[in-house]
Amino acid sequence: MTCYTCKRIEMIKNNKFPFFVEELETGYVVLGDHQYFRGYTLFIFKDHVTSINDIDKDIQLKFMQDLLLVQEAVYKTFKCNGVDIELLSNSEHLTWHIFPREDGDVPNNSPVWSLHKSILYNTYNMLNSNSAKEMVSDLRETLNNLKKTR
Ligand SMILES: [Zn+2]
Repeated sequence: MTCYTCKRIEMIKNNKFPFFVEELETGYVVLGDHQYFRGYTLFIFKDHVTSINDIDKDIQLKFMQDLLLVQEAVYKTFKCNGVDIELLSNSEHLTWHIFPREDGDVPNNSPVWSLHKSILYNTYNMLNSNSAKEMVSDLRETLNNLKKTR
């Protein structure tokens, strides 16, 4: 198994991934390694699939429903102005990227990826087990409360 994301899923299953938030029907919710956008969250499809076009239509719809739940939880937990949601076609493993956005966080209201990598992936923004604890528990609580309303 060489997929980076699949390795993380193995860590989640073994209770060894500190940024793991919640397991939903179609995927895993985890906080991103870098938090320039505080609350940056990933929603990872459970199986190793590269493209959303490689899964059945009914599973696609369920995956989208779960995504809507995750993005609402991110929005409410991190009290941002809005969220950017992206599914990247060049990704090795089907993963949604959910970025909480604030006014002025990127010059000229540009997409998150317009930031230079030296800013986006600066070690200063790296999450660690301690800084993740409160964020993980807050996001988990919001997710579980939202689940009850659906
Ligand atoms: Zn994978």
